[in-house]
Amino acid sequence: MRTGEVDILVVGAGLSGLVAARELVRAGKEVAVLEARERVGGRLLSVEVAPGAFVDLGGEWLGPGQERLAALAAGLGARQATTLDNGLHVLYWDGRRRSYKTSVPPLPLGVLADLAQAGAHLSLLTHPVGLEEPWQARRAGKWDATSVERWLRRNLATQGGRSVLRLGVRELLAAEPEEVSLLWLLFVLRSAGGVRTPLTVTGGAQERRFVGGAQQLAARMAGALGERVVLGAPVVHIRQDAGSVTASTKNSHYKARAVVVAVPPPLCRSIGFDPSLPHERAELVRRMAMGAVIKVAAIYDEPFWRSEGFSGQAFSDDGPLHMSMDASPEHGPGVLVGLLGGSAGRWFSRADPVARREAVTACLARFFGPRAAKPVQLLEQDWSAEPYSLGGYDAHPELGALAAYGRALRAPYRCVHWAGAEAAPHWCGYMDGAVASGERAAAEVLDCL
Ligand SMILES: Cc1cc2nc3c(=O)[nH]c(=O)nc-3n(C[C@H](O)[C@H](O)[C@H](O)COP(=O)(O)OP(=O)(O)OC[C@H]3O[C@@H](n4cnc5c(N)ncnc54)[C@H](O)[C@@H]3O)c2cc1C
Repeated sequence: MRTGEVDILVVGAGLSGLVAARELVRAGKEVAVLEARERVGGRLLSVEVAPGAFVDLGGEWLGPGQERLAALAAGLGARQATTLDNGLHVLYWDGRRRSYKTSVPPLPLGVLADLAQAGAHLSLLTHPVGLEEPWQARRAGKWDATSVERWLRRNLATQGGRSVLRLGVRELLAAEPEEVSLLWLLFVLRSAGGVRTPLTVTGGAQERRFVGGAQQLAARMAGALGERVVLGAPVVHIRQDAGSVTASTKNSHYKARAVVVAVPPPLCRSIGFDPSLPHERAELVRRMAMGAVIKVAAIYDEPFWRSEGFSGQAFSDDGPLHMSMDASPEHGPGVLVGLLGGSAGRWFSRADPVARREAVTACLARFFGPRAAKPVQLLEQDWSAEPYSLGGYDAHPELGALAAYGRALRAPYRCVHWAGAEAAPHWCGYMDGAVASGERAAAEVLDCL
């Protein structure tokens, strides 16, 4: 039985928990970080595919407006590289493959016009949705009761426009449009800088990535925290007494004056709280679900598509892989990554490995020709199968839950404070949001103590 006593406990050694711990140590506090897995980084996972060449199977890209993440990375000495956005992109639509160079795919003009009006409409609707308290928007109740699917059926005139928007929602939230509310979509769009930014490369959220992978941010912070980080320590219980809090794993107890819980909200369901969580927080975590996402990386001897003039970016209505991006390390093999979100992700989880490989390589071959069908290696990361993530990219509230219980996202419960990408007003669900939430939770604890 291991026991310990510190000033502050942090549950979870993802980006948010490690940032919180770092800030607290800087303020002179004694800290312990309890991490369930045998590694740090949580939803960040970088795999070495050749000596010194890493591929991200979790969080990867960053872009303008993500100053907190950029500052953290600069401080840790992590270099950034620009995502390849030059060359021909591929659109595979209605069984036809076309290449294009502009930022607008060659979809039928009627579909493009429909999408333009829908984008302008959504953009207008985001304005009254405040980032700190989206549930306070005048029509919050109505928008939170309306699914995105219902909205797009009513507000887009063409079948093609609806299909593109459905794919966009899956890429953005890793969930089906019927699973998320219009209010959540509006909030996420506003939180990520507008309607265009989240799915854009140059000038958007996919503009850059970290040389050496994103997980190094977590590894470097954990390295500096040293023995304060305890791996293989899933917290199962948190008890609060007058002025103290005890977090327990199956075989250890840690006592502190406060705790920062830095795990995604649905993961809080596997922690018993004594006294029980307040009604609003309990309902919120009960009514939030992780998205379903699988990230695949196809590794080739070289990025052969570049010499053929292609950027590696593809967009398709035919799945299971609806998109791809060039994620080749600076000096190393060629890498195409793709994300399978929502129903495609769930299908992939159930399918047998051979069927999965065939389906993915068939999509890549449709995008970039027969060479793409024969990667030397195909990596898959199914985030729904990870017991300490339960999915990705992040958690979304079920219909009606944001308006009813959203205020519990960040509100501390006595000595328990909440961090995590989901608790961030700006870049909610992103690495930048995780960093911001860790900083905010640390400041909150210091204030409270
Ligand atoms: C496939 C994928 C692609 C993504 N792409 C991007 C991207 O390109 N750009 C971007 O900005 N973001 C991206 N994200 C999101 C980004 O990775 C996350 O927002 C961020 O890493 C979340 O950090 P966090 O600290 O909030 O949570 P997490 O990383 O989930 O950390 C929580 C930690 O808590 C631990 N834990 C859970 N339960 C317990 C327990 N009971 N006791 C102790 N420890 C526990 C977990 O093991 C984990 O280490 C992506 C995510 C995924 C999955």
